[in-house]
Amino acid sequence: MPLKTYTSNIYQDRLKNYVPDKPYEQDGEVCPLIMDTISIDASGKAFVCCACPNYWFFRIGAYLEMTKDEILMKRYSHPICASCPFPRRDATDPDRNALVGALVSRLSRPGQGSMSGLVAGKPLLSF
Ligand code: SF4
Repeated sequence: MPLKTYTSNIYQDRLKNYVPDKPYEQDGEVCPLIMDTISIDASGKAFVCCACPNYWFFRIGAYLEMTKDEILMKRYSHPICASCPFPRRDATDPDRNALVGALVSRLSRPGQGSMSGLVAGKPLLSF
């Protein structure tokens, strides 16, 4: 495939043609680039992953200004992943607990304290 094909257009088309089916990810699988790595540019901005270019629409936010739960939720729920064929792996118990913990954190209300007490010191779920 010619190099010029790998412009933002191919990624913008993927996002425009978003379908929620996630054909490349089976139940019980996760993307290792979400769960095992973090992608940060020279200015400290976090991105979905290192398999995508650092285009603005893959930018998650300032790495040092977000909690690890915010970063995980923003990356895990990015729509580009639905159409990405990068090989997945089986989710581990730590993966499941990290995702559940991030979702619990996302659902806590500002000013009402954190729900992090639910996760402090022990896993939310045991599988
Ligand atoms: S875009 Fe692809 S490689 Fe990157 S995190 Fe999403 S599924 Fe993984």
